[in-house]
Amino acid sequence: LKIGIARETAPGERRVAVTPETCKKLVAAGAQVCIERGSGAGAHFPDRTYEEAGATLVDATEAAIADADAVLCVQPPPATAIAAMKTGAALVGTLQPQADAARGEAIVQRGVVAFPLERLPRTTRAQAMDVLSSQAGMAGYKAVLIAASLAPRFFPMLTTAAGTIRPSKVLVIGAGVAGLQAIATARRLGAQVEGFDVRPETREQIQSLGGRFLDLGVSAAGEGGYARQLTDEERAEQQRRLGEHLKNVDVIVCTAAVPGRPAPKIVSAAMVGGMKPGSVVVDLAAETGGNCELTRPGETDDHGGVVVAGPLNLASQGAQHASEMYARNVFNFMQLLLKDGAIGFDWEDELLSKTVWPERS
Ligand code: NAD
Repeated sequence: LKIGIARETAPGERRVAVTPETCKKLVAAGAQVCIERGSGAGAHFPDRTYEEAGATLVDATEAAIADADAVLCVQPPPATAIAAMKTGAALVGTLQPQADAARGEAIVQRGVVAFPLERLPRTTRAQAMDVLSSQAGMAGYKAVLIAASLAPRFFPMLTTAAGTIRPSKVLVIGAGVAGLQAIATARRLGAQVEGFDVRPETREQIQSLGGRFLDLGVSAAGEGGYARQLTDEERAEQQRRLGEHLKNVDVIVCTAAVPGRPAPKIVSAAMVGGMKPGSVVVDLAAETGGNCELTRPGETDDHGGVVVAGPLNLASQGAQHASEMYARNVFNFMQLLLKDGAIGFDWEDELLSKTVWPERS
């Protein structure tokens, strides 16, 4: 049983799907773990630490994955690498097979059994494998640190010989996993924090972290614990109330998302125009288009004294801990596939049958 890990190739990606800790566990489960040299470097796991954990290190991507029974990754390998995989081998990672035609085609053509982990059902049993949650936690944390460093103000209240500084007001839009971590982080830095979400159950979660729930009079609880899209009237009302409120906010951290859709546009250019100079917007939803109308993915712009940042792949900025969590998620998923020292697919298990791509007929 061979498990292969190639170096991540996506620009700016520093995470790795297997850490020395999970490598050791895979070896203990009877696997030969084959890792391309340098795979862990971006996350500060040197090659030596993998060797000590029982891995075999190889010099080329192909050597790591060509005859592997399972290939583990953070972002999908290029279509050419997928085409070099063994037919029937498992490919596990955040694969987004539909985002790239060549990639999807390579998976299908090669007969690779792909498990895009972003498709895992969000059940209690799947929580230990939930890469969306573990990576969103790091993203929410980093988003607040970026906001704090861009801001020309303190977050905490300070009483000094030079007078009193009032605390910054931080509004976190969207209180899913990333948003709640952003709220907790901004609170730890001493800001006055408000959170807002269309799912009513987030009120209590925001409050439990020391934040205030910003009530804009709109509720949009949808199926499976996710948000539904708002109607035009609901949106207009939300916008009007929010615009008024933002005139008095120093920092906005945007994290609102609706699965499978572009990010909802919540903060308009006019609202940014109404904010005080020196205010900051960090838009974590930049990857799917942004919650702020002015967000440019990957860029930081000044709009009349208000800075709007759209950082991408924030989890990668905390690559070491993000990888530790991601790798544990992947290891927990692999336990569903590892049977008596071999890879097997139990299609009765919904965590496999609902995650596999293409969908099984
Ligand atoms: P997400 O990244 O899809 O969305 C982020 C947040 O944006 C959500 O809270 C959503 O309600 C909010 N949002 C959407 N449209 C909005 C709008 N117009 N205005 C304001 N906010 C808006 O969500 P997520 O962080 O992946 O998690 C969403 C839900 O799934 C949460 O309830 C979470 O607890 C739940 N969850 C369950 C499990 C599990 O049980 N295994 C695991 C992870 C998450």
